[in-house]
Amino acid sequence: MFCFCRRVWRAGRAYVEEGLLKIVVLVKLVPSSEARIRIAADGRSIDPADVELLASAYDEYAVEAALQLKEKFGGEVVAISAGPDKAAEMLRKSCLALGVDRAVLVRDPALDRTDTLGTARALAAACRRETPDLILCGKLAIDQENAAVGPQVAALLDLPHVSVVSNLEPSSESAFVVHREIEGGMEEIEVSLPAVLTANKGMNEPRYASLKGIMTAKKKPLDTVDLAALGLDAQAVAPKAILVSLKTPPVRADQGIIIQGESAAAKVAELVRLLFEEAKAL
Ligand SMILES: Cc1cc2nc3c(=O)[nH]c(=O)nc-3n(C[C@H](O)[C@H](O)[C@H](O)COP(=O)(O)OP(=O)(O)OC[C@H]3O[C@@H](n4cnc5c(N)ncnc54)[C@H](O)[C@@H]3O)c2cc1C
Repeated sequence: MFCFCRRVWRAGRAYVEEGLLKIVVLVKLVPSSEARIRIAADGRSIDPADVELLASAYDEYAVEAALQLKEKFGGEVVAISAGPDKAAEMLRKSCLALGVDRAVLVRDPALDRTDTLGTARALAAACRRETPDLILCGKLAIDQENAAVGPQVAALLDLPHVSVVSNLEPSSESAFVVHREIEGGMEEIEVSLPAVLTANKGMNEPRYASLKGIMTAKKKPLDTVDLAALGLDAQAVAPKAILVSLKTPPVRADQGIIIQGESAAAKVAELVRLLFEEAKAL
Protein backbone atom coordinates (compact mmCIF):
# COMPACT_ATOMS: atom_id res chain seq x y z
CA MET A 1 0.00 0.00 0.00
CA PHE A 2 1.05 3.55 -0.76
CA CYS A 3 2.53 5.07 2.38
CA PHE A 4 3.08 8.70 3.30
CA CYS A 5 5.88 9.92 5.49
CA ARG A 6 4.48 12.45 7.87
CA ARG A 7 6.58 15.51 8.48
CA VAL A 8 6.70 17.19 11.84
CA TRP A 9 8.01 20.73 11.96
CA ARG A 10 10.25 21.52 14.85
CA ALA A 11 12.42 24.61 15.05
CA GLY A 12 11.73 25.28 11.37
CA ARG A 13 12.98 21.83 10.27
CA ALA A 14 10.93 19.01 8.87
CA TYR A 15 11.25 15.63 10.54
CA VAL A 16 9.90 12.48 8.96
CA GLU A 17 7.63 10.65 11.38
CA GLU A 18 5.21 7.86 10.57
CA GLY A 19 3.46 6.73 7.39
CA LEU A 20 0.17 8.58 7.74
CA LEU A 21 -1.26 11.59 5.99
CA LYS A 22 -2.51 14.43 8.17
CA ILE A 23 -4.83 16.84 6.40
CA VAL A 24 -6.22 20.14 7.62
CA VAL A 25 -9.28 21.54 5.84
CA LEU A 26 -10.17 25.21 6.26
CA VAL A 27 -13.94 25.69 6.23
CA LYS A 28 -15.75 29.02 6.38
CA LEU A 29 -19.30 29.62 7.63
CA VAL A 30 -21.19 31.65 5.01
CA PRO A 31 -24.80 32.61 4.26
CA SER A 32 -26.60 30.12 2.03
CA SER A 33 -26.46 31.15 -1.61
CA GLU A 34 -30.27 31.09 -1.56
CA ALA A 35 -30.54 33.44 1.43
CA ARG A 36 -32.12 36.87 0.98
CA ILE A 37 -29.28 39.13 2.04
CA ARG A 38 -29.95 42.31 4.04
CA ILE A 39 -27.29 44.76 5.13
CA ALA A 40 -27.02 45.18 8.91
CA ALA A 41 -27.51 48.53 10.63
CA ASP A 42 -23.73 49.19 10.71
CA GLY A 43 -23.76 49.29 6.87
CA ARG A 44 -20.68 47.04 6.79
CA SER A 45 -21.94 43.56 7.47
CA ILE A 46 -24.75 41.16 6.65
CA ASP A 47 -27.75 41.06 8.97
CA PRO A 48 -27.61 37.46 10.26
CA ALA A 49 -31.30 37.37 11.29
CA ASP A 50 -33.17 34.58 9.46
CA VAL A 51 -30.16 33.80 7.27
CA GLU A 52 -29.27 30.15 6.89
CA LEU A 53 -25.53 29.67 7.46
CA LEU A 54 -23.62 26.81 5.84
CA ALA A 55 -20.12 25.67 4.93
CA SER A 56 -18.89 27.55 1.86
CA ALA A 57 -19.53 25.44 -1.27
CA TYR A 58 -15.91 25.16 -2.43
CA ASP A 59 -14.89 24.10 1.09
CA GLU A 60 -17.22 21.12 0.71
CA TYR A 61 -15.07 19.90 -2.20
CA ALA A 62 -11.99 20.32 0.01
CA VAL A 63 -13.61 18.29 2.82
CA GLU A 64 -14.61 15.54 0.38
CA ALA A 65 -11.10 15.41 -1.11
CA ALA A 66 -9.60 15.11 2.37
CA LEU A 67 -11.98 12.29 3.31
CA GLN A 68 -11.27 10.38 0.09
CA LEU A 69 -7.50 10.66 0.72
CA LYS A 70 -7.94 9.44 4.29
CA GLU A 71 -10.03 6.50 3.12
CA LYS A 72 -7.35 5.57 0.58
CA PHE A 73 -4.16 6.16 2.56
CA GLY A 74 -5.14 6.40 6.22
CA GLY A 75 -4.39 9.31 8.49
CA GLU A 76 -6.35 12.09 10.11
CA VAL A 77 -8.52 14.95 8.87
CA VAL A 78 -8.91 18.07 11.01
CA ALA A 79 -11.34 20.86 10.05
CA ILE A 80 -10.56 24.41 11.18
CA SER A 81 -12.86 27.41 11.00
CA ALA A 82 -12.44 30.98 12.21
CA GLY A 83 -15.81 32.48 12.91
CA PRO A 84 -18.73 32.98 15.28
CA ASP A 85 -20.13 30.40 17.72
CA LYS A 86 -22.52 29.22 14.98
CA ALA A 87 -19.49 27.92 13.07
CA ALA A 88 -19.25 25.13 15.69
CA GLU A 89 -22.62 23.79 14.54
CA MET A 90 -21.44 23.93 10.91
CA LEU A 91 -18.21 22.07 11.82
CA ARG A 92 -20.28 19.26 13.37
CA LYS A 93 -22.84 19.08 10.55
CA SER A 94 -20.65 19.63 7.49
CA CYS A 95 -17.36 18.14 8.66
CA LEU A 96 -17.47 15.79 11.69
CA ALA A 97 -20.74 14.12 10.55
CA LEU A 98 -19.15 13.33 7.19
CA GLY A 99 -16.07 11.62 8.66
CA VAL A 100 -13.68 14.41 9.67
CA ASP A 101 -11.92 13.28 12.87
CA ARG A 102 -11.59 16.52 14.83
CA ALA A 103 -12.48 20.17 14.49
CA VAL A 104 -11.09 23.42 15.81
CA LEU A 105 -13.04 26.67 16.02
CA VAL A 106 -10.95 29.82 16.26
CA ARG A 107 -13.23 32.25 18.07
CA ASP A 108 -12.09 35.68 19.16
CA PRO A 109 -13.88 39.06 19.08
CA ALA A 110 -10.82 40.57 17.39
CA LEU A 111 -11.50 38.37 14.35
CA ASP A 112 -15.01 39.73 13.81
CA ARG A 113 -13.79 42.68 11.77
CA THR A 114 -10.46 41.51 10.51
CA ASP A 115 -9.35 41.41 6.88
CA THR A 116 -8.17 38.44 4.84
CA LEU A 117 -4.62 38.71 6.18
CA GLY A 118 -5.84 38.73 9.79
CA THR A 119 -8.03 35.70 9.08
CA ALA A 120 -5.11 33.96 7.39
CA ARG A 121 -2.81 34.75 10.36
CA ALA A 122 -5.25 33.13 12.79
CA LEU A 123 -5.78 30.10 10.51
CA ALA A 124 -2.06 29.72 9.81
CA ALA A 125 -1.33 29.73 13.56
CA ALA A 126 -4.02 27.07 14.09
CA CYS A 127 -2.56 25.00 11.21
CA ARG A 128 0.97 25.31 12.62
CA ARG A 129 -0.17 23.58 15.83
CA GLU A 130 -1.43 20.64 13.75
CA THR A 131 1.73 20.16 11.61
CA PRO A 132 -0.29 18.86 8.65
CA ASP A 133 1.10 17.31 5.46
CA LEU A 134 -1.62 18.93 3.39
CA ILE A 135 -3.87 21.96 3.88
CA LEU A 136 -6.99 22.11 1.71
CA CYS A 137 -9.19 25.21 1.29
CA GLY A 138 -11.88 26.35 -1.07
CA LYS A 139 -10.74 28.46 -4.04
CA LEU A 140 -12.87 31.27 -2.59
CA ALA A 141 -15.51 31.81 0.05
CA ILE A 142 -18.86 32.22 -1.69
CA ASP A 143 -19.83 35.28 0.36
CA GLN A 144 -16.84 37.63 0.17
CA GLU A 145 -14.94 35.99 -2.68
CA ASN A 146 -11.48 37.37 -1.98
CA ALA A 147 -9.81 34.09 -2.99
CA ALA A 148 -7.00 35.29 -0.74
CA VAL A 149 -6.96 33.26 2.47
CA GLY A 150 -5.55 30.01 1.03
CA PRO A 151 -2.54 31.64 -0.68
CA GLN A 152 -1.97 33.86 2.38
CA VAL A 153 -1.94 30.85 4.73
CA ALA A 154 0.59 29.20 2.41
CA ALA A 155 2.81 32.30 2.44
CA LEU A 156 2.61 32.67 6.23
CA LEU A 157 3.62 29.01 6.67
CA ASP A 158 6.22 29.24 3.89
CA LEU A 159 4.55 26.37 2.05
CA PRO A 160 4.04 25.80 -1.68
CA HIS A 161 0.57 26.58 -2.93
CA VAL A 162 -1.50 25.60 -5.96
CA SER A 163 -4.85 27.28 -6.55
CA VAL A 164 -8.07 26.19 -8.26
CA VAL A 165 -7.23 22.49 -8.20
CA SER A 166 -9.71 20.19 -9.90
CA ASN A 167 -7.96 16.88 -9.29
CA LEU A 168 -5.20 15.61 -6.99
CA GLU A 169 -3.31 12.34 -6.78
CA PRO A 170 -0.21 11.38 -4.80
CA SER A 171 2.84 10.97 -7.06
CA SER A 172 5.30 9.83 -4.38
CA GLU A 173 5.41 9.58 -0.61
CA SER A 174 6.09 13.29 -0.39
CA ALA A 175 4.41 14.88 -3.41
CA PHE A 176 1.09 15.26 -5.22
CA VAL A 177 0.29 15.74 -8.87
CA VAL A 178 -2.56 18.21 -9.21
CA HIS A 179 -4.57 19.45 -12.17
CA ARG A 180 -5.91 22.94 -12.62
CA GLU A 181 -8.14 24.16 -15.40
CA ILE A 182 -6.88 27.21 -17.24
CA GLU A 183 -8.38 29.10 -20.20
CA GLY A 184 -8.51 26.52 -22.99
CA GLY A 185 -6.44 23.87 -21.25
CA MET A 186 -5.37 21.91 -18.22
CA GLU A 187 -2.18 22.34 -16.20
CA GLU A 188 -0.52 19.42 -14.42
CA ILE A 189 1.68 20.42 -11.49
CA GLU A 190 3.77 18.37 -9.10
CA VAL A 191 3.86 19.90 -5.65
CA SER A 192 5.88 18.65 -2.69
CA LEU A 193 4.33 18.20 0.75
CA PRO A 194 3.52 19.92 3.00
CA ALA A 195 1.48 22.14 0.69
CA VAL A 196 -1.66 24.25 0.50
CA LEU A 197 -4.18 23.50 -2.28
CA THR A 198 -7.39 25.37 -3.03
CA ALA A 199 -10.30 23.33 -4.37
CA ASN A 200 -12.32 24.08 -7.49
CA LYS A 201 -15.84 22.98 -8.37
CA GLY A 202 -15.98 19.54 -9.95
CA MET A 203 -13.09 18.17 -7.89
CA ASN A 204 -15.45 15.49 -6.58
CA GLU A 205 -19.03 14.87 -5.53
CA PRO A 206 -19.38 15.93 -1.87
CA ARG A 207 -21.12 13.28 0.22
CA TYR A 208 -24.14 13.69 2.49
CA ALA A 209 -24.03 12.88 6.20
CA SER A 210 -25.52 9.54 7.24
CA LEU A 211 -27.65 9.25 10.37
CA LYS A 212 -24.81 7.29 11.98
CA GLY A 213 -22.38 10.05 10.99
CA ILE A 214 -24.61 12.70 12.56
CA MET A 215 -24.83 10.72 15.81
CA THR A 216 -21.07 10.02 15.91
CA ALA A 217 -20.30 13.69 15.24
CA LYS A 218 -21.85 14.67 18.56
CA LYS A 219 -19.04 12.87 20.41
CA LYS A 220 -16.10 13.91 18.22
CA PRO A 221 -13.64 16.48 19.61
CA LEU A 222 -14.35 20.10 18.74
CA ASP A 223 -11.98 22.54 20.47
CA THR A 224 -12.54 26.26 20.66
CA VAL A 225 -9.40 28.36 20.86
CA ASP A 226 -8.87 32.11 21.04
CA LEU A 227 -6.04 34.18 19.61
CA ALA A 228 -4.01 34.01 22.84
CA ALA A 229 -4.04 30.20 22.66
CA LEU A 230 -2.53 30.52 19.18
CA GLY A 231 0.18 32.92 20.36
CA LEU A 232 -1.50 35.92 18.69
CA ASP A 233 -3.16 39.09 19.94
CA ALA A 234 -5.71 41.56 18.57
CA GLN A 235 -2.92 43.68 17.08
CA ALA A 236 -1.78 40.74 14.91
CA VAL A 237 -5.18 40.60 13.20
CA ALA A 238 -6.01 44.32 13.11
CA PRO A 239 -7.36 44.99 9.59
CA LYS A 240 -5.18 46.97 7.21
CA ALA A 241 -7.79 46.78 4.47
CA ILE A 242 -10.86 48.33 6.05
CA LEU A 243 -14.30 47.35 4.81
CA VAL A 244 -15.95 50.78 4.58
CA SER A 245 -19.44 49.90 3.40
CA LEU A 246 -21.46 47.10 1.96
CA LYS A 247 -24.26 47.71 -0.55
CA THR A 248 -26.69 45.50 -2.40
CA PRO A 249 -26.81 46.13 -6.18
CA PRO A 250 -29.14 49.02 -7.18
CA VAL A 251 -32.60 47.93 -8.26
CA ARG A 252 -32.66 47.95 -12.07
CA ALA A 253 -34.55 50.93 -13.39
CA ASP A 254 -35.40 48.90 -16.48
CA GLN A 255 -37.34 45.97 -15.12
CA GLY A 256 -37.98 44.46 -18.59
CA ILE A 257 -41.34 43.93 -20.19
CA ILE A 258 -43.63 40.98 -20.60
CA ILE A 259 -44.93 40.81 -24.15
CA GLN A 260 -48.67 40.31 -24.36
CA GLY A 261 -50.43 38.72 -27.34
CA GLU A 262 -53.21 36.41 -28.47
CA SER A 263 -50.85 33.71 -29.72
CA ALA A 264 -47.16 32.77 -29.83
CA ALA A 265 -46.97 34.11 -33.38
CA ALA A 266 -48.44 37.46 -32.30
CA LYS A 267 -45.96 37.67 -29.41
CA VAL A 268 -43.03 36.91 -31.71
CA ALA A 269 -44.20 39.60 -34.13
CA GLU A 270 -44.41 42.11 -31.29
CA LEU A 271 -40.94 41.07 -30.02
CA VAL A 272 -39.42 41.60 -33.47
CA ARG A 273 -41.14 45.00 -33.74
CA LEU A 274 -39.76 46.07 -30.35
CA LEU A 275 -36.25 44.89 -31.24
CA PHE A 276 -36.39 46.85 -34.53
CA GLU A 277 -38.21 49.99 -33.55
CA GLU A 278 -37.48 50.58 -29.87
CA ALA A 279 -34.29 48.73 -28.93
CA LYS A 280 -32.87 49.27 -32.46
CA ALA A 281 -31.01 46.02 -31.88
CA LEU A 282 -31.67 44.59 -35.36
C1 LIG B 1 -18.38 41.89 10.24
C2 LIG B 1 -17.29 41.75 9.22
C3 LIG B 1 -16.38 42.77 9.07
C4 LIG B 1 -15.35 42.65 8.11
N1 LIG B 1 -14.44 43.65 7.98
C5 LIG B 1 -13.48 43.57 7.05
C6 LIG B 1 -12.52 44.60 6.86
O1 LIG B 1 -12.53 45.61 7.52
N2 LIG B 1 -11.61 44.44 5.88
C7 LIG B 1 -11.58 43.33 5.07
O2 LIG B 1 -10.74 43.26 4.19
N3 LIG B 1 -12.44 42.31 5.25
C8 LIG B 1 -13.40 42.41 6.21
N4 LIG B 1 -14.28 41.40 6.36
C9 LIG B 1 -14.17 40.23 5.48
C10 LIG B 1 -13.48 39.08 6.16
O3 LIG B 1 -12.29 39.44 6.74
C11 LIG B 1 -13.27 38.00 5.12
O4 LIG B 1 -14.47 37.27 5.09
C12 LIG B 1 -12.19 37.02 5.45
O5 LIG B 1 -10.99 37.72 5.56
C13 LIG B 1 -12.02 35.94 4.42
O6 LIG B 1 -12.09 36.45 3.12
P1 LIG B 1 -13.08 35.73 2.14
O7 LIG B 1 -14.33 35.47 2.88
O8 LIG B 1 -13.18 36.52 0.91
O9 LIG B 1 -12.34 34.36 1.91
P2 LIG B 1 -11.51 33.78 0.66
O10 LIG B 1 -10.15 34.34 0.66
O11 LIG B 1 -12.33 33.87 -0.58
O12 LIG B 1 -11.50 32.27 1.17
C14 LIG B 1 -10.82 31.23 0.50
C15 LIG B 1 -10.84 30.00 1.36
O13 LIG B 1 -10.12 30.24 2.58
C16 LIG B 1 -10.76 29.55 3.66
N5 LIG B 1 -11.30 30.52 4.60
C17 LIG B 1 -11.59 31.83 4.42
N6 LIG B 1 -12.06 32.39 5.56
C18 LIG B 1 -12.11 31.40 6.46
C19 LIG B 1 -12.52 31.30 7.81
N7 LIG B 1 -13.00 32.37 8.46
N8 LIG B 1 -12.42 30.12 8.44
C20 LIG B 1 -11.94 29.02 7.80
N9 LIG B 1 -11.55 29.04 6.52
C21 LIG B 1 -11.63 30.20 5.87
C22 LIG B 1 -11.88 28.72 3.04
O14 LIG B 1 -11.36 27.46 2.69
C23 LIG B 1 -12.22 29.53 1.80
O15 LIG B 1 -12.85 28.75 0.80
C24 LIG B 1 -15.27 41.48 7.31
C25 LIG B 1 -16.19 40.44 7.48
C26 LIG B 1 -17.20 40.58 8.42
C27 LIG B 1 -18.19 39.46 8.59
